[in-house]
Amino acid sequence: MGEGQSRLDLFIDRMVSQRACLDHAIAETAGMPGPVFELGLGNGRTYHHMRSRIDGRDIYVFERAVAAHPDSTPPEARTILGDVRETLPAARDRFGPTATLIHADLGGHNRDKNDAFARLVSPLIELLLAPGGLMVSSDRMYFDALEEQPLPPGAVPGRCFVYRRP
Ligand code: SAM
Repeated sequence: MGEGQSRLDLFIDRMVSQRACLDHAIAETAGMPGPVFELGLGNGRTYHHMRSRIDGRDIYVFERAVAAHPDSTPPEARTILGDVRETLPAARDRFGPTATLIHADLGGHNRDKNDAFARLVSPLIELLLAPGGLMVSSDRMYFDALEEQPLPPGAVPGRCFVYRRP
């Protein structure tokens, strides 16, 4: 935690960073045809943001239990229900490496648990991203073939991460 930062400060930094990184990644991948994956629907705020800014690409949502705001609930056909440890490998068989943008916000309050989970799912996520595609995460990820990118203006270092498949 940063010097003197309250939990409210950290939360605000995370939200501001999510929006800055998502807007950047949406713009950078706008010309690409493949689907977008939202990992972790939660309240649906980031899904709602992406849906309002992404044209012409399907957004698939991976979530173990949908409990979002009604405005932010994805259609059943594009909801991939279950634990990502199982649904991500299945998505690899279904979609191949075609995702143009993957956003992951799967973490809770325990930073060590979040880090362990990020290590576990990184290889599963990596297989889904198309060449030139971007991955945005609230946690540091552990990829072999994806390259960490500089953060866009407005994002706070350590609160959001952007990766690209060359
Ligand atoms: N970005 C969302 C928003 O703006 O409202 C918040 C996402 S919330 C922090 C994390 C979500 O990830 C929760 O809804 C949780 O159920 C989901 N999640 C966590 N671990 C998961 C897993 N192993 N498989 C599927 N979903 C998971």
